[in-house]
Amino acid sequence: MADDKENLQEAETGDEESGAKQPVVGPDGLTRKDRMKIKRHGMPEQTPEDRVRNFSSVVLGYDDETAYAEAQRCLNCKIPRCIDGCPAEIDIPGFIYAVLENDLEKSYRILKAANALPAVCGRVCPQEAQCELTCVLAKKSPVAIGRLEQYVAEKMLDHYEKEPPEIEHVPITKEKVAVIGAGPAGVTVAMDLKRMGYDVTIFEALHKPGGVLNYGIPPFRLPRRILNAELNTVAGMGIHVRCNIVFGKTLTYDDVMAQDFKAVFLGTGAGLPSFMGIPGENSNGVYSANEYLTRVNLMEAWDFPNADTPVFVGKHVCTVGAGNTAMDSARVSLRMPGVENSYIVYRRTKDEAPARREELHHAEEEGVIFKFLTQPIEVIHDDKNWITALKCIRMELGEPDESGRRRPVPVPDTEFTIPCDTLLMAIGQRPNPIAMRSIPGLGITRWGTVTVDEETMMTEVPGVFAGGDVTVGASTVIMAVGHGKKAARGIDAYLSGLRG
Ligand code: FAD
Ligand code: SF4
Repeated sequence: MADDKENLQEAETGDEESGAKQPVVGPDGLTRKDRMKIKRHGMPEQTPEDRVRNFSSVVLGYDDETAYAEAQRCLNCKIPRCIDGCPAEIDIPGFIYAVLENDLEKSYRILKAANALPAVCGRVCPQEAQCELTCVLAKKSPVAIGRLEQYVAEKMLDHYEKEPPEIEHVPITKEKVAVIGAGPAGVTVAMDLKRMGYDVTIFEALHKPGGVLNYGIPPFRLPRRILNAELNTVAGMGIHVRCNIVFGKTLTYDDVMAQDFKAVFLGTGAGLPSFMGIPGENSNGVYSANEYLTRVNLMEAWDFPNADTPVFVGKHVCTVGAGNTAMDSARVSLRMPGVENSYIVYRRTKDEAPARREELHHAEEEGVIFKFLTQPIEVIHDDKNWITALKCIRMELGEPDESGRRRPVPVPDTEFTIPCDTLLMAIGQRPNPIAMRSIPGLGITRWGTVTVDEETMMTEVPGVFAGGDVTVGASTVIMAVGHGKKAARGIDAYLSGLRG
């Protein structure tokens, strides 16, 4: 396969060998050379000063003209490398080309055929490391695939709010399948199986579906109006969704089997938080980031007292970690009443921070204070056990460790304290074992994840499948969607085999 440089040169010269299948003049009358001259369009946003006072969407979305102009940049490559970068294998040039044809309904249909959650993914996918990285224009400036996906999906969801679409009713012709967990993996497997004629029930522990999309990612990144509209398109297909059911406690594997379910999909995510094990960590005012975000986002403590659930947050908040969860926690904290300082404490440098660059950039713009090369070593508390400060030590980067990243090592005699009254631990999550314990015979790795066959997503227990974070640890939404699609195919093949 030609490399990106060659592809780009070919696209620039208009060589037919380049693989470009689009006619030289597209529906907008432009040639490929014209397209190459159009610059990538920026995303309009609330100003940092405004948005830090509210929970409304930070990004404002493309308007019609900007979306059309961005769509004109796509070369509609014959060998679309962007699709290789998308775990859900969306027909990316297809949905973009439909924008140029002014047919948003068709564009949305193309998105939905591959991805149950395009509006969500347009907003939260790390496109820069996926489809936009493999876009033939990546070296110069890739097509803004995520922004276009967000534009098309949100435009159509708005449209369907006024004129509800015809509901996709597929008659039930096949067996009952139980899906455990209503995160992106569970929702995807449910949608794909329903389309194949299965009788699907999702069992969800929380009172609302969505998984991390609802309890973890804050509304200023993923407005709940959009999330709910997208989840409703799935539930509206006739999938049964039963909330407040903890598989492994209120419902066991034996119960499910007794109810004549013929296959089970485990999509229970990785919601079990990790702590550092440092002295004083059980002080009052120390939270796992997951609990804090769940209170603020899912229980809507950000809107207290209009909502029922409060959350305690002081004036000086430290968040330990530098992944997406840490950025969300630090940015949520800035928006909570009474907070004066929101710190990120991270033992490596900005270059190693696992959060999306966009999230780091937004956090910096909004005034999060970054303490890089800093390792917490003790939580200082008063005589009533309330946290008063975080004791830290400075770090420097040493030799690379097994992950290939340079290992942070403490610099002797550099201890210092950061005054703080709320501490959020965002140093990683593992799968919660409650659900797995209910299914005897599952293979579990030393990281607590479930082992699966990567093609079919079947576990070591015949008829039990798994996907998303429960199989790989904390990952991405689109990875969970990709697993859900594979698992739906795996379940269908397994049950078809039993039917003979
Ligand atoms: P989850 O989304 O975790 O869903 C699992 C569901 O199973 C939950 O609803 C849970 O309540 C339910 N469940 C668990 N146990 C049981 C049980 N015993 N019985 C019944 N139900 C159960 N990814 C991105 O791509 N972009 C981002 O910007 C991004 N930001 C993130 C921010 C935060 C704060 C976090 C925590 C994660 C973020 N991620 C992001 C990661 C992404 O959200 C996850 O990889 C993805 O949601 C995994 O999907 P899932 O379906 O496997 O699990
Ligand atoms: Fe080619 Fe990029 Fe368009 Fe994909 S998005 S078809 S790689 S130009």
